[in-house]
Amino acid sequence: MAEHPRRLDVAIEAVQAACRVCDSLQKQLANLQKMHKNDRSPVTVADFASQAVVNNILQSNLGPFSMIAEEDAQTLRDQIEAGETAIADAVCEAANQVWSGATRDDVIGAIDLGHPSSERSHAHGYWTLDPIDGTKGFLRGGQYSVCLAWIEGGEVTLGVLGCPNLSLDFGRPFDDPDPHGSIYFASAHEGAWEMRGDAERSGAVRLERLHRTENEPLRLCESVDGSHTSHDVAERAMGKLGELAEPLRLDGQGKYAVVARGQADVYLRLPRGGYIERIWDHAAGALISHEAGCAASDARGAQLEFGHGAGMDANRGVVVTAQELHGPVIGALDEVAHEGS
Ligand code: AMP
Ligand code: MG
Repeated sequence: MAEHPRRLDVAIEAVQAACRVCDSLQKQLANLQKMHKNDRSPVTVADFASQAVVNNILQSNLGPFSMIAEEDAQTLRDQIEAGETAIADAVCEAANQVWSGATRDDVIGAIDLGHPSSERSHAHGYWTLDPIDGTKGFLRGGQYSVCLAWIEGGEVTLGVLGCPNLSLDFGRPFDDPDPHGSIYFASAHEGAWEMRGDAERSGAVRLERLHRTENEPLRLCESVDGSHTSHDVAERAMGKLGELAEPLRLDGQGKYAVVARGQADVYLRLPRGGYIERIWDHAAGALISHEAGCAASDARGAQLEFGHGAGMDANRGVVVTAQELHGPVIGALDEVAHEGS
């Protein structure tokens, strides 16, 4: 099916607007925490505001859509009914930075567009959105991403990844937020692109993952949070392939971009206990890394499947590598699995 001609432009605009809102909220973390006496309230506000802003831009420019997103507005409605309006008001105020005149009802209505309704079918494609991926990074003042992808016939055909704190400069440490951030996007069969977070699309540069320089230590990229992936199994597997550099650890889907742009060689996500990955945590990144020339699969080498609803039921874990490393990495993971712990 032909790609909607404006879909990518609108998706980029939506992600950029959401990134602006999240960025300004992250800069007032301490204030928001004091105001709401709850450590998590800033991310709650940012999650809802980000989803409202993305959905409003999609709807205003492209008309009605279906979406599988992480948030719905039920908790906000419940709070309002109980007379607690602080979070809803903060969401509304935050969204107003890029959506002027939006009322509390407008914002709640926009958030709910992300909730799969039985009336709208997914047959003609749907969005998947993670309004803030990498919650812990967001709360730490560090890395996180806004992730939006379009899925049609089980395939991801478009992906946009906004990383408000990720520098285009490889030399800048992940815990030193870049003032402009970066944004990555891809369309199926048309390549992947990167640009500064606040740039125009015409300023984007094609992302092409080069072959690895032989004899350089291998660099792994993984979650900061050791409950999302086994750092230990990753280190054991990678250790079979050669000398290792210090792993790069960051929160959110920016890990796909880090491999796609050649800053790391491998992204491993090796969850424990049968955890099923969610499509919004991987769809945009998987397309971007694939279009940049990387190999992506699950931890057993199976193709990532995005057509089973919110959960990636057919897969376990994620492996993204420079092409030539994919076979060796899957082989090493298999060896480690057979060695036991
Ligand atoms: P990251 O920032 O890459 O560590 O991952 C953030 C994402 O991990 C969140 O959006 C969650 O959906 C997902 N997540 C939550 N619990 C787990 C788990 N036990 N294993 C793997 N991923 C998880
Ligand atoms: Mg997430």
